[in-house]
Amino acid sequence: MKPVLIQNADWIVAWDESAGCHRYVRNADVLFEKDRVSAIGPALGQAAPAEVDIVDGRNFMVMPGLVDIHSHLSHEPINKGYTDETGSPGLYNSNLYEFMPTMIGDDEAAPWQTRLACAELLMSGVTTIVDMARPYPGWVDALAESGLRAYAAPMFRSARWFTRNGHVVEYDWSEDRGFGAMSEALDLADTAERHPSGRLSGMVVPAQIDTCTPDLLRESYKEAASRGMRWQTHAAQSLPEFHEITRRHGVTPIQWLGELGVLGESSLIGHSIFVDDHPNTHWHTVTDIRLLAETGATVAHCPTVFMRRGMALCDVGRYLRAGVKVAIGTDTYPHNMIEEMRHVGYVARLMANSPHTVSTREIFNAATIGGAASLGRSDIGRLAPGAKADLVMVDMTHPSMQPSRDPIRSLVYAAADRAVHTVFVDGEKVVEGGRALRLDIDRAASEVTAGQLRAERAVPERDLVAQRGAAEVSPLTFQFAD
Ligand SMILES: [Zn+2]
Repeated sequence: MKPVLIQNADWIVAWDESAGCHRYVRNADVLFEKDRVSAIGPALGQAAPAEVDIVDGRNFMVMPGLVDIHSHLSHEPINKGYTDETGSPGLYNSNLYEFMPTMIGDDEAAPWQTRLACAELLMSGVTTIVDMARPYPGWVDALAESGLRAYAAPMFRSARWFTRNGHVVEYDWSEDRGFGAMSEALDLADTAERHPSGRLSGMVVPAQIDTCTPDLLRESYKEAASRGMRWQTHAAQSLPEFHEITRRHGVTPIQWLGELGVLGESSLIGHSIFVDDHPNTHWHTVTDIRLLAETGATVAHCPTVFMRRGMALCDVGRYLRAGVKVAIGTDTYPHNMIEEMRHVGYVARLMANSPHTVSTREIFNAATIGGAASLGRSDIGRLAPGAKADLVMVDMTHPSMQPSRDPIRSLVYAAADRAVHTVFVDGEKVVEGGRALRLDIDRAASEVTAGQLRAERAVPERDLVAQRGAAEVSPLTFQFAD
């Protein structure tokens, strides 16, 4: 691979090491060799090696690739058009217990769901992804094939949740099954770390605070620490879960994680919404946000999937001001990281009744250096000499980018993925002209469509509440004409 010189870029979002922040740089070059950025600055042509691939940077903004720290690539694409408006009235409108378990893709669809989601992510400027999956055959290879920098994060748990009536959540426990699944997950995470691409890593993910025994949560945290891996779980993500944990333990989900000793620099908590002083919880303490800040845990913030059902973290600006680390994930479809960033801003401002609660700079930081820090890395999420050559070229000529007095704002609030033109991961071009080069997105889309049709047929047997069909669980927007 020859060194690449992006010449005369209109704008560069470059990392200022001495100030510790991103800066705009105008009319300059970016040089990278193999997987690393080697220089950023004006007129690097003279200093570049003789054999170099020149990329014309005029009419482009070059920015660091985005870091998406919470997603479910092999489960979520199939939910499009189905779970957009579902939510159990008897379970505080959560979708998790009655509806999510009714739409399950099969192993045939899983790699295609992953490919479709990976293509969307790349085309929205993501270069690093954390994929929290129910493992399926070929999963690690599918991640590697995408060209993304990926964290294989296999989920395991001691219990399955279900509801028979739409207002009580029940748990089917098996402690042995939980530990067995953890052992398999650790093997998979280790396999990812050894992958010859060098782009894969592992993460340890006990799936949810309410489906894992205290021992499984503690032991998995130790296993992650002994491997130098990050640890992530879902907690404070629904009111039924908040009530379940307060009923079992007398403390909030965040406090319970604190008591178990699993909140720390290496922990990511999706989604830390229902904390003690959230307006919907009416709990008697005001300590959760401070606890998150003091322990150094990262909130995996994914507003889209919650705002669909009228729920929101309150508010991310407040968390940041309290010193909580925040990173951003897409969690659901669409796998569009830039739209997710837009939602981070808009939802926070609605919850705070103020446009000042969170700035675009803070949102961009969360999607870059915040995500990187949550993974324990300083070599991604920034453009600086020595950093990984994970970068995005945004088309400044796209009408939706104009006017472009502040191109990051034009990108986040207007253009989103439409203006993402070229993406490099590890120095390899993986998106060009807005298309993912390694993935057949059209084939993936049709395979996921076929997988959704197969899954829809199984909805009545999966619906434990009333054996409803897909059309009844989630009616179409319009009835068919006679
Ligand atoms: Zn999730």
